[in-house]
Amino acid sequence: MDDLQKRTWAEVSLKNLRHNYEAIRAAIPEGCRFLGVVKADAYGHGAVPVSRMLEEAGADYLAVSCLDEAMELREAGIKMPILILGHTPPKYTETLIDNNISQTISCFAKAKEYSDAACAIGKELKIHIKLDTGMSRLGFLCSEGYYQEGLRNVAEACALPGLNHEGIYTHFAVSDEFGEDNEDYTRRQFALFTGFIEDLKKQSGLSFKIRHCANSGAVVNYPEMALDMVRPGLLLYGYGDTSGRLGLKPCMRLVTTVSTIKVYEPGTSVSYGRRYTTDKRTRMGVLAIGYADGLPRISSNKCSYAVKGGFAPQCGSICMDMCMVDLSDFPQVDVGSEVEIFGEQNSICKISDAAGTIPYELLCAVSKRVPRVYKD
Ligand SMILES: *Cc1c(COP(=O)(O)O)cnc(C)c1O
Repeated sequence: MDDLQKRTWAEVSLKNLRHNYEAIRAAIPEGCRFLGVVKADAYGHGAVPVSRMLEEAGADYLAVSCLDEAMELREAGIKMPILILGHTPPKYTETLIDNNISQTISCFAKAKEYSDAACAIGKELKIHIKLDTGMSRLGFLCSEGYYQEGLRNVAEACALPGLNHEGIYTHFAVSDEFGEDNEDYTRRQFALFTGFIEDLKKQSGLSFKIRHCANSGAVVNYPEMALDMVRPGLLLYGYGDTSGRLGLKPCMRLVTTVSTIKVYEPGTSVSYGRRYTTDKRTRMGVLAIGYADGLPRISSNKCSYAVKGGFAPQCGSICMDMCMVDLSDFPQVDVGSEVEIFGEQNSICKISDAAGTIPYELLCAVSKRVPRVYKD
């Protein structure tokens, strides 16, 4: 990277990504497929380079949220099968088919629309049926009162012409949270999912090549739920409470630089709103990162960032393009020095906890203005 760009950047380690992929592969059963979730620009890491790496490493499937995300990958030459987890307007059915993109089907009415569109052009759309076993988001209802109706609806959807039912899946609500209640809930979701698939087979003779339910939480906490394919997102990028158990490494390092340093007398207020006042002679640095880069403003005054020699407390309100840090204890840190906002030294969880959010949101928030720099 040339010096002009040396403001704020996100280093993405494809080596760590490869390491995480191999480690997760080694933890799942032999023969189980691996789907890498690369929605939201691969959780901010860059969907194209991440997908290229996964393709090269031998992953089986990719998942994205919408057609635009899928087409970005196809236009970049990614050949692997792609599953769209969200909705696609049925008028794009031909685009889906021609680009070998599989579509999630979450109710009979939509199945019918895709079927009609596929039949009109004499082609076949690959679909994955989504069951709502307790997430209460997308999917065919199949809980108690809806069970029989659910079986009928799925069977009728799969029987429609122009649709090839390659897969069936569900999504867990609390597989990444601990405690008996959460474990119980996840096990009940899993039992409902597998029981429903068995009944579909018994009642309608239907079977699916790829049954999948394991998101990051389940890959680590419930390895027995891997079925035919696992579907990790966050884990692949090396984050989350459970990533340590597999020895995974975070793939992104958000780095900024010190723009200027000034020394203030005690009693000097700093930044908008005057929400911080120095209580000593303070050597204050201005960092070239703010909420427009993805640093949550709500974490103002609550975090410290990694500098050479330790962690410098952030002081005062985070501005759009800048924020301040107390460098009094770090005389070796100078204008132009690098500061790690999060990465291997400063855990992203410290920032997400301070902001009252989760690592997912911080990764997705790293904005377009922040160049991604690929290492290895
Ligand atoms: C986002 C998503 C995943 C990946 O979730 P992680 O918690 O990041 O592993 C898996 N499946 C579905 C349906 C998703 O929407």
